[in-house]
Amino acid sequence: MRKTVIAGNWKMNMTPKAAGAFISELAPMVKGKDKCDIVLCVPFVDIATAAEAAKGTNIKIGAQNVHFEQKGAFTGEIAADMLLEAGAEYVIVGHSERRQYFGETDTTVNLRTKAALAAGLKVILCLGEVKDQRLSGITDEVVAMQTKLDLAGIPEEDLKNVVIAYEPVWAIGTGLTATPEQADETCGVIRKTIAAIYSKKAADEIVIQYGGSMNDGNAAELLAKTNVDGGLIGGASLKTDKFTAIVDAANK
Ligand code: PEP
Repeated sequence: MRKTVIAGNWKMNMTPKAAGAFISELAPMVKGKDKCDIVLCVPFVDIATAAEAAKGTNIKIGAQNVHFEQKGAFTGEIAADMLLEAGAEYVIVGHSERRQYFGETDTTVNLRTKAALAAGLKVILCLGEVKDQRLSGITDEVVAMQTKLDLAGIPEEDLKNVVIAYEPVWAIGTGLTATPEQADETCGVIRKTIAAIYSKKAADEIVIQYGGSMNDGNAAELLAKTNVDGGLIGGASLKTDKFTAIVDAANK
């Protein structure tokens, strides 16, 4: 039985003060809703305040990126142990905005994932096709290849600390959502790929989220699908009522 993971990706939104206030408001709204894990992936500078505000609640804190080296001359980057010490338990790796705007490749996604896992962080590994790839009918090949490259060299026992977020790029921040059937089918392709690389057990156990304009209106239908084990939520994670409604859908 896989546990649902509902994770917010705040992107470049909210100051530390706003993050603390948000979590204080959200905590009573999601209290006891423990059929899913609840994670908020916040900007780096918000992590310590967010972790403090989330203490004693069922909200976990994550970051949005991590570098693959432990330290050194990498201006503007951040190391896994810095995130852990600040209070992060999770980190998003390979988000399409990093791939599109900051030159992230499957090779660097793989390195970042390995570094995060080695340090003891849980990884939310994002992958998904762009619009032209879906229109060309090569979505399955694209997500299978990303799954293989992004997880290359990662042992099966580490998969318990990996959540895969299937995020069709054309659905992120656009208001367009994959249909529940498309989400289920493509999450299923990722699961089959995990079975091929690792084992049926690994495929049965790995948590695969859907992300791409998930909101309070469509979450229930998406989460009802067999292969969809949660959501990575951008825009709708910035409002406590909308995010709570998604948590509620995961607790039915
Ligand atoms: C995301 O940032 O991962 C995301 C899915 O964003 P949105 O929900 O706004 O489409």
